[in-house]
Amino acid sequence: MESGLTPVMRQYRAAKDAHPDALLFFRLGDFYELFYDDAIIAARELQLTLTSRDKTKSVPMCGVPYHAAGGYLQRLLRKGYRVALCEQMEDPKTAKTIVRREVTRVLTPGTAVDAALEASQSQWLASVAAAGKDATASVGVAAIDLSTGEFRATEFAGGTAWALALDELARMRPAEVLFARGSGFGATTQSVRQGVLSPAQDDTTVMSGPPVGEDGAPELSGARTEVEEWAFTEEYAIPLLRQQLKVHSLDGMGMAGHVAAGVAAGAIVHYLRATKQGALEHLDALRYYERSDCLELDAVSVRNLELVEPLFSSEGPQTTLFWTLDACCTPMGKRTLRAQLLRPMQSLTDIDARLDAVGLAAADLRRREGVRRAMDGVLDLERLLGRVAMETAGPREVVSLGATLARLPGLRSAVAEFASGRWDELAKSFDTLDDLQEMIARTLVDEPPVALSDGGAIREGIDAELDDLRGLSSSGRQRIAAIEERERERTGIASLKVRFNSVFGYYLEVTKANAKAVPADYERKQTLVNAERFTTSELKELETKILTAQERSGEIERRIFADLRRQLLTQAARVRETSRQIAEIDLLGNFAHLAALRGWVRPSVDASGVLEFIGARHPVVERRLEEQGAGRFVPNSLSLCASEDGSEGPSLLLITGPNMGGKSTYLRQAALLTIMAQCGCFVPAERMRLGLVDRIYTRIGASDNVARGRSTFMVEMTETAAILNTATARSLILLDEMGRGTATYDGLSLAWATVEHLHDTVGARTLFATHYHELTLLAERLLRLKNVRVTVKESAGGIVFLHTVEAGAANKSYGIEVARLAGLPQAVIERAREVLKVHERAESQQVREAVPDAAKVQMTMFTPLSQKIVDRIEAVDVDGLTPREALALLAELQRELKGGGA
Ligand code: ADP
Ligand code: MG
Repeated sequence: MESGLTPVMRQYRAAKDAHPDALLFFRLGDFYELFYDDAIIAARELQLTLTSRDKTKSVPMCGVPYHAAGGYLQRLLRKGYRVALCEQMEDPKTAKTIVRREVTRVLTPGTAVDAALEASQSQWLASVAAAGKDATASVGVAAIDLSTGEFRATEFAGGTAWALALDELARMRPAEVLFARGSGFGATTQSVRQGVLSPAQDDTTVMSGPPVGEDGAPELSGARTEVEEWAFTEEYAIPLLRQQLKVHSLDGMGMAGHVAAGVAAGAIVHYLRATKQGALEHLDALRYYERSDCLELDAVSVRNLELVEPLFSSEGPQTTLFWTLDACCTPMGKRTLRAQLLRPMQSLTDIDARLDAVGLAAADLRRREGVRRAMDGVLDLERLLGRVAMETAGPREVVSLGATLARLPGLRSAVAEFASGRWDELAKSFDTLDDLQEMIARTLVDEPPVALSDGGAIREGIDAELDDLRGLSSSGRQRIAAIEERERERTGIASLKVRFNSVFGYYLEVTKANAKAVPADYERKQTLVNAERFTTSELKELETKILTAQERSGEIERRIFADLRRQLLTQAARVRETSRQIAEIDLLGNFAHLAALRGWVRPSVDASGVLEFIGARHPVVERRLEEQGAGRFVPNSLSLCASEDGSEGPSLLLITGPNMGGKSTYLRQAALLTIMAQCGCFVPAERMRLGLVDRIYTRIGASDNVARGRSTFMVEMTETAAILNTATARSLILLDEMGRGTATYDGLSLAWATVEHLHDTVGARTLFATHYHELTLLAERLLRLKNVRVTVKESAGGIVFLHTVEAGAANKSYGIEVARLAGLPQAVIERAREVLKVHERAESQQVREAVPDAAKVQMTMFTPLSQKIVDRIEAVDVDGLTPREALALLAELQRELKGGGA
């Protein structure tokens, strides 16, 4: 078969063999063609027509036009495919035999950078690596956003290392994750945990497992890519990383002692080189980060709280906190806001500094608007730089980079107007990159062509030879025009034209009808249906001159542009720093804008164990109600304190009340306000006081989660285990309808024991919403537990949810009342009341048994057995009883009680 291949197909075969795991886009003229299985896949995924290259139809084929390839490529990448681009490396016109072709780049989900990227979102290519053995074992996670050059790494140690690493990945939501071949990561998490790093035996913090999805695998988004395992070795990856970052030691980047993080980062560099992702000059810094630097939010909470993405994909982004808080002016600001929400601060000094700056700007409309207006027209500096580095930026993009730089002095003066605090620091350290702006403005014309090859991007006066050549080719074109004029006169053919095309160069075109009038010195070049094309020695000479001049000036333009690019890239670190500062300015301005616009207040954040707010609202729900004209959000208050002795208030709130009463909203609101405050954002409340929180845990019980279609109870218990094992006294814990996924008594018992443990052992600020009314009895014994309920009002037209939260336990039979109002038949309602009574007696007795201090007498009174005796006593006509009968009855009742049977 191989011998039967045409030379082009042999070329194809070689390229495909080198990239078996990618769809090969093979450039043939104006098309990218796909063959064999690639063609079948692409035809299916892109709805292209499958054709065949040969008559026997043995080679399936399909193609996309070269100029329209972008959209198709994006669609394939989004579906998780990899694509190798095999380009023509020489001009088909000049190629002597078959055109040389080479794979110039492999596009993968995590490396494909294009203009269509969501501006507010980072695109992560992540990598996970294990290093060390037993006691020193650790798991590193590294990630890069190629579109901006942001590169970072972290590391986890101990028995929970894998779980934490997976959680970090899940939170990051990378487009692609790299892992070492043979580590089993791609297949199941189980093998990763057991095969690569087994939890240390004596580690008491060992978690029961990583966050799991329906099939036991971690819920990781994005493609997973296996990479040669040697790329994940310390000996290879670390030196490679040092070389890329041009440093002798990684210690300066905070990487000292973090081998696993270094290996993960080095493996990313290896992968970028192996897939030929451009020059990578902007990739010159790596940042080591610790999760403990910030308020930790695990992946489950990030999802449950809808911080950046809606819980249900069918819902729009309006349900997210990010959407509600985003009035940023620049893409850098939006990305920073998003990142900030996922990693709120945990340093009082930083939080206060930001709140100060926000307060200052919130109170000063003129200066605030000055800053925000100065950001008008500031484009995505980081990504433009990224495109310059990846050589995907054309002259227009560099000019728009220059235009953005030109706005920076104005932005700095606007910021300097505040003249104090963080604003002042920002103004003073702000690098407006004037030299780079000048360099671009000096080199490129104001409105260059899209492609450099179109010519004319470089300004006059930059290069003397270029100016000469341009003069030459433009005078050449004038001479051509003159020739046309002259020849028309000479031949008397008024329709004679001088034309140019890329195959035949310049020619004189004469219609067939006029062919007889052509002079003898014309040399025939080509015959068309209606016309003849000629050349002359004069035209040929001129053509050579023009074309050489154009070719040469193209060369010079390319050289100058490449120089410019290189010079810009030597300053990449400065550009990135400025970009980071713009992002911060934007973020501060954004928070100030929201505070002023919505009347939000400054939270007071301190080191206490307090979480307290008064007149507070859920920012997302409030805004949604407003926009739908669906009424006002009912403000509510909360007071929790996790101080050692509990003297200042309860640490655990048990929230009961009917369905739809507002329990879940109340819980989420507490978490969102905490996150906002620790991001340095003002909050929708009359007043808020917050003692720093180290972690937030949010779990939503099975029934609220049913729509997600998971094996819910196991998931819920795994998540609860994680909380009980890792929460600290500084944490904020939200448990919503725990234990619903199993039998009533199972669920109740688990919820009961969990509340006790949280109260007695963990001591964290906790909000526990439950439908287990029985739990409210715990308040009798647990001093720092307080019962609150969401209130409702019955009215003629039905039930009104008041959405206020007040002290006390909810009325248990409320469900039946709701059912009555809903119109259930009276007989059913009555019967339900009877059944409920029986159950209540039984339940209340059992529950009280679990409370050791509760009155013993009362307990036995309400067993179902005693109830019968009680009923008999009740039925006795005491006045009609003789003393003897009374004695006999007493003896009988006692016998029954002792005998245990009626
Ligand atoms: P529960 O968890 O008690 O079943 P939810 O928290 O899910 O109740 O709230 C039910 C509905 O009531 C939601 O649509 C929510 O938007 C609305 N809601 C909740 N709290 C308030 C409030 N304080 N003011 C106005 N509407 C509210
Ligand atoms: Mg609820």
